Amino acid sequence: MTVPMLEAENLSVAYGKVEAVRGVSLRVEPGRLVTVLGANGAGKTTLLNALMGVLPARGRIRFEGRDVARLPVEARVAQGLSLIPERRELFSTMSVEDNLKLGAFRFRNTGSKGGDLEEMYRLFPRLAERRRQHAGTLSGGERQMLAMARALMGRPRLLMLDEPSLGLAPLIVAEVMRTVARLRDEGVAILLVEQNARAALQIADHGYVLDGGSVVLQGDSRTLQGDARVVETYLGTL
Ligand code: ATP
Repeated sequence: MTVPMLEAENLSVAYGKVEAVRGVSLRVEPGRLVTVLGANGAGKTTLLNALMGVLPARGRIRFEGRDVARLPVEARVAQGLSLIPERRELFSTMSVEDNLKLGAFRFRNTGSKGGDLEEMYRLFPRLAERRRQHAGTLSGGERQMLAMARALMGRPRLLMLDEPSLGLAPLIVAEVMRTVARLRDEGVAILLVEQNARAALQIADHGYVLDGGSVVLQGDSRTLQGDARVVETYLGTL
């Protein structure tokens, strides 16, 4: 059996007395695209932040078999975990290219190299056309592309994305999702948090449905797409 890229067991996160994530267990196998679906407030962002080490959590988190649950964020990044938050924080007065260069920052003073710019421009041709443009003047879709490319400059082994479709027009959502699927095809394991269940299930291999902080359903994407509860609650009204 292969060692999962990421494995969480019985993970819980509380804000004071309020438990936002309750006993969640999930795994991402190497090279797989796994999605976590759920409505507003289901606990998706909290879960990602706990996996990344931004929030303290109870439970076990293993990355490529190693226990990372007590490691600070930087140490998790160094092991190959990367999170693109919903806010897609970019340096808006810096050029696209300078933003990308900062993505390789963790490789400063180390012998190893980050991803290279030409590789990113091959994956994201739109960014190549705009390499001198300020990041702050990009469209929402282009900003999401830049956030992904910048994260890839750090050569992550697992990329976590928090609602990359948020605020984007349907055609752009489709483009972003195609790009996420391509990254998986290039070998990056992906954990994709989405409210847009339809778009996410189209590209994911496996999915988890979060409700009230707990996993209420999981399965391969095709099974979930045909599941009456998923159709009714998450697909029917879109
Ligand atoms: P959304 O899709 O709206 O971002 P989500 O599934 O990502 O939702 P979370 O942001 O993880 O959900 O929130 C889960 C629960 O925790 C919600 O009830 C939210 O109000 C609560 N919560 C989130 N952040 C905090 C905080 N800093 N302090 C207190 N409660 C919080």
